[in-house]
Amino acid sequence: GCGICVHKCPFNAITIVNLPEQLDEDCVHRYGINGFVLYRLPVVKEGMVVGILGPNGTGKTTAVKILSGQLLPNLCGDNDSWDNVIKAFRGNELQTYFERLKNGEIRPVVKPQYVDLIPKAVKGKVRDLLRKADESGRFDEVVKELELENVLDRDIRHLSGGELQRVAIAAALLRNAEFYFFDEPSSYLDIRQRLRIAKIIRKLAESGKNVLAVEHDLAILDYMSDIIHVVYGKPGAYGIFSQPKSTRNGINEFLRGYLRDENVRFRPYEINFSKKSERKSQEGEILVEYPSLVKDYGSFRLEAEGGELYIGEVVGIVGPNGIGKTTFVKMLAGVEKPTEGEIDWSLTVSYKPQYIKTDYDGTVYELLSKIDASKLMSSFYKSELLNPLGIPELYDKNVNDLSGGELQRVAIVACLLRDADLYLLDEPSAHLDVEQRLAVSKAIRSLMAKNEKTALIVEHDVMMVDYLSDRLIVFEGQPGKFGRASKPMGMREGMNRFLASVGITFRRDPDTGRPRANKEGSVKDREQKERGEYYYT
Ligand code: ADP
Ligand code: ADP
Ligand code: MG
Repeated sequence: GCGICVHKCPFNAITIVNLPEQLDEDCVHRYGINGFVLYRLPVVKEGMVVGILGPNGTGKTTAVKILSGQLLPNLCGDNDSWDNVIKAFRGNELQTYFERLKNGEIRPVVKPQYVDLIPKAVKGKVRDLLRKADESGRFDEVVKELELENVLDRDIRHLSGGELQRVAIAAALLRNAEFYFFDEPSSYLDIRQRLRIAKIIRKLAESGKNVLAVEHDLAILDYMSDIIHVVYGKPGAYGIFSQPKSTRNGINEFLRGYLRDENVRFRPYEINFSKKSERKSQEGEILVEYPSLVKDYGSFRLEAEGGELYIGEVVGIVGPNGIGKTTFVKMLAGVEKPTEGEIDWSLTVSYKPQYIKTDYDGTVYELLSKIDASKLMSSFYKSELLNPLGIPELYDKNVNDLSGGELQRVAIVACLLRDADLYLLDEPSAHLDVEQRLAVSKAIRSLMAKNEKTALIVEHDVMMVDYLSDRLIVFEGQPGKFGRASKPMGMREGMNRFLASVGITFRRDPDTGRPRANKEGSVKDREQKERGEYYYT
């Protein structure tokens, strides 16, 4: 084992010191000679939601493949039988689990991470697909819980990301299984839908099932999990599962970068939420005043109040799915023409759409250097944007071979490298892990402040919205029918208005300042609702 190892991490050249000793004994799987190595596994507990929190590329999916019996772990040698795995885990809680798995007594079901790929694998109407998955006879109940009534007769190819996510979760819930694994269930969902899913997953565990969930939205992970594991290591090289921890402790230890029971510091700095310097936007210089806008699609109508944007600020855009956020951003970007009102400014705009299409044939470096080769060389852009987002490591990769999270980072960087007055980013957090979300937030804030530009960001992750935004535009209305957009307002007012429309209250964790969702009907929840303080207390 290694007492003191120093490893370089893609993000900010993080060094990891004092890794646990005698790791070798806990080696579970190694992909090839110089391939990725997984140490230890999460526990599987009946009647509990076990949450997993860790960077992309640290073996979370690998662990799930092992626990679901899809991958026989080689125990970092030449193991070729489940009996040896059972032996290796003797005395561990997983021993019985693996015995039952081997004997076929455990049926696992997995909700995959990339729901966008589902239409490539299965064809047909949603109703037929879900009927086929229904082993539990709970079709009507599950369809209602996931609010899928309106999409049952649609072809799976014609669903939005959020609809696909809910169909995938429904398909998993309809199976009769003992072990349910949800790989990032919140992607593409709005906050109300995320909390709804979290409750459904909790109910599944309460009915006696084993549930494992990977989740990067910390508020949701917190809300959903009974216990959590932190996964740490070097993305792409190795990953180590921590001991199980209480949810609150585990998340706080993750943010601090230090695991107390293990005595491991895996990040040299703490992530803290209370330190954001409050901008006094209204005192700055106005970039532009935009008029009130209307977009009428016939079946859907959006009315947006006019407002002003300040130089150097970041404005968050929040609201449910199907309420017109993307439509609004597209009007500002000049992609959609308003039905009423006119965008006649001379501003230049750089826009990252919600769904990223790739037909680019070439490497990441080629793609980005075409946008602005000199910025790739500039030490300012290296330290503020490229290094924190782990972009240089991707330079030689083909754009078509990127994973969802890699593609997202490249698309964000492509957007931010362009010269523009106004930057519009639609859901930049999709497929990113917690550190990447924070790195993106930090990069956007610092580029806007230092370059004296303005950004509008559509975002559902409350932690990210909180960390990123100086002000908020709040969308309300009836999803799919009509939407109303407010003018930009202060964080406190905006958050209160937004969360009141969703009916959720948040408090701040006293240690780390991170937002925590109150359980519905709890003392804090009722008291905050009474005072009309949904967020800052
Ligand atoms: P996570 O789910 O935490 O993002 P994964 O378990 O998917 O991580 O992957 C961990 C590492 O293992 C990645 O670097 C990935 O490239 C590598 N890996 C995954 N599957 C294979 C495989 N079949 N062969 C070789 N390497 C793999
Ligand atoms: P959000 O970004 O808030 O999820 P969108 O702006 O994407 O919402 O969509 C709002 C509504 O407008 C949805 O009901 C959507 O189906 C509808 N819509 C979006 N684009 C079009 C279009 N080109 N034609 C008709 N309806 C559309
Ligand atoms: Mg959208």
